[in-house]
Amino acid sequence: MIQEAQRMQAIPPYMFARIERMISEKRAQGIDIISLGIGDPDLPTPTPIIDELSRRAYDAANHQYPSSRGMKTFREGVASYYNKRFGVELDPEDEITALIGTKEGIANINYCFVEPGDINLVPDPSYPVYDIATGLAGGNSYYMPLTKENNFLPDFQAIPAAVLSKTKILWLNYPHNPTAAVADLDFFEQAVAFARRNNLLICHDSAYGEMTYDGYEAPSILQVTGAKDLAVEFGSCSKPFNMTGWRIGYCVGNTAAVSALARYKSNVDSGVFQAIQYAGLAGLQDYCSFVEKNRAVYAARREILVGGLNSLGWELPYPKGTFYVWAPVPLGHTSASFAELLLNEAAIVVTPGNGYGPAGEGYFRATLTLEESRLKEAIERLRKALGRVEF
Ligand SMILES: *Cc1c(COP(=O)(O)O)cnc(C)c1O
Repeated sequence: MIQEAQRMQAIPPYMFARIERMISEKRAQGIDIISLGIGDPDLPTPTPIIDELSRRAYDAANHQYPSSRGMKTFREGVASYYNKRFGVELDPEDEITALIGTKEGIANINYCFVEPGDINLVPDPSYPVYDIATGLAGGNSYYMPLTKENNFLPDFQAIPAAVLSKTKILWLNYPHNPTAAVADLDFFEQAVAFARRNNLLICHDSAYGEMTYDGYEAPSILQVTGAKDLAVEFGSCSKPFNMTGWRIGYCVGNTAAVSALARYKSNVDSGVFQAIQYAGLAGLQDYCSFVEKNRAVYAARREILVGGLNSLGWELPYPKGTFYVWAPVPLGHTSASFAELLLNEAAIVVTPGNGYGPAGEGYFRATLTLEESRLKEAIERLRKALGRVEF
């Protein structure tokens, strides 16, 4: 067999492989598994968005290669969303590119800026793509631990100067997967000042920017004066419009970074099917009404799951954003041993927190992507299996 390239070693063994094997064994035995492990909306894509796709799919003008940067109409739609939602002006010509889902752009932007041996600052815990794609591009991750004491915000002062001198990208993600933490504009101001002092590119992943509760509205990092000098923001139609399977997102902000990413992409992909761009645009144009519906559904589920866990002895705050609940494991457990216990004793799947980075040890992540009756059932099973928990 031909030898794999060295860079493939940046891809760790799939962290959930063992759990998935255990799940399929249980299902094969006829056990009714409740999976709180899935970060994928269970709600359908809204009908007006599907209608827009169907209509545009019949138009032969949409059947050829799209431009990799995205149609001008789509980019103008993103600009007008940013203007309406954040009061941020974006030039559709050179401050916006479409993406085949944000995951694609998050991975690819590393190839545009990271040289072998460079460092990226990566939140710990976090969405695994920042770290893995840094490694694929030949770079090294420096983990910024996100702790409860710091409200799950990185402590920039704790990063050594020797690290900063080799750093290219500062990765941020608020509202945050997996901790559900949020950041205010004041934090983004500090991040921009820090990046300016140290000559870094900020890549802010705002995949959950519209998934917020209790009247909280997540800011854009581009609302910070001068942020466009050094920051880009990734946005997605996946989570706000229940479109994870459709693959459409965007990267906006700093012209040089957006252009580099678009230039890179034009050599490795050929863009997003135009009918899907029109469908994503339909989502963005009417974002308020789609997002309101989702927020109501997840907020009611949050009540059941967080309220239920708290009735068993947890003392969790109600998350202001995302559809995740980030909870400590009870006394005497590790992330792995607790996830295994829940699977064996309650037929419930959660993801072990250390799968998102070493600082996630001692936590598990549960999701709100199941209907209320299943969440209630999950809480009842936990009550039977655990009784009252201690920490
Ligand atoms: C789901 C998710 C994404 C990926 O979104 P796509 O646009 O579907 O690729 C990006 N970042 C985070 C933190 C996510 O949880």
